[in-house]
Amino acid sequence: MKKILQDLNFAQTEALVLSLGEKKFRAKQLFEGLTQGKAITEISSLSKDFKARLCEEYEDKPVKIKERFFSADGTEKYLFELADGNLIEGVLMKYKYGYTQCVSTQVGCRMGCKFCASTLGGLVRDLTAGEILSQILVVNALHKEDVQGSGAQARAVTNVVLMGSGEPLDNYDETLQFLRNVTAEEGLCISARNISLSTCGIVPKMYKLADEGIPLNLTVSLHATDDETRARTMPVAKAYKIAEILKACDYYFQKTGRRYYFEYTLIEGENCDETHAEALIKLLKGKPCHVNLIRLNEVKERKLKALDDKSAYRFLGRLEKGGLSATLRRQIGVDIGGACGQLRASYLEE
Ligand code: SAH
Repeated sequence: MKKILQDLNFAQTEALVLSLGEKKFRAKQLFEGLTQGKAITEISSLSKDFKARLCEEYEDKPVKIKERFFSADGTEKYLFELADGNLIEGVLMKYKYGYTQCVSTQVGCRMGCKFCASTLGGLVRDLTAGEILSQILVVNALHKEDVQGSGAQARAVTNVVLMGSGEPLDNYDETLQFLRNVTAEEGLCISARNISLSTCGIVPKMYKLADEGIPLNLTVSLHATDDETRARTMPVAKAYKIAEILKACDYYFQKTGRRYYFEYTLIEGENCDETHAEALIKLLKGKPCHVNLIRLNEVKERKLKALDDKSAYRFLGRLEKGGLSATLRRQIGVDIGGACGQLRASYLEE
């Protein structure tokens, strides 16, 4: 596989341009062109010869949109193709304040959560920082008409959630380089406060992330109130206990001053009766956190069932009465392939 230019930060791009005998200002043209989602060969300010030399070593376009799906509610879903033919997927959610894109960090996943489609075929490979970034670059390019801001930082996507396929903290170095690059002033310059990273709770990496000093929104997939129940659906629970996760969250808050979030997917008969609501209140009351309740997107390969709406609202009500800050996540884009991982899974099946 060829290398990926979008992996590089601006300083690294400058060094590369100079090493190829080009003038330094070409780095800005190259970097800006890539930031606008162009393929190398589409950047008109660069000479044909220079572009040809770049293309000998680097992918012209590391992420391509293979298919685009539209939901009646405005949500879009993409099947992306990587240079080696691997497929990943992403979602674009349209809100009043801007567009939020959900990106993938790995092809497949090795965490093995029982409710999740991304992990059905295991981990295929990690994405590079540039492959994570390029998902946003190509989607921005598709939505030029919806751009916010101006100049080099004009972009449609204003918010990013690392909640697609893969476990971001299982691909730590590339995810971090992505975070540095997507927030960089020379690049898309998306504020870290507009970025959410979701993890199944890889505790040592949560500490490491806290020490990086990036004020992003840390979100942990909890999905249970005790370790035994959690381990039934999330194998990672055997490695890291809920108590350790909560400690790491507190450390994150100390270091960044940012409150943290928990995702709690409601699975019928598993984690959402009254005793679970009480246990969740006991566990989290007084902590600087917010709970996002999620309706299970039923995956046909799995037997787990979603909780009915009425019970979901009742569960939410109990949490609120118990003093927790909580919301039930609105379900959008259900008509276009549901949960992350489902689209790729059905595609691979065909
Ligand atoms: N690996 C990260 C990102 C995963 S996707 C993590 O585990 O947090 C983001 C969220 O969607 C996670 O909370 C995940 O547990 C949840 N999720 C996965 N499949 C789901 C499904 N079928 N229905 C509802 N939520 C799901």
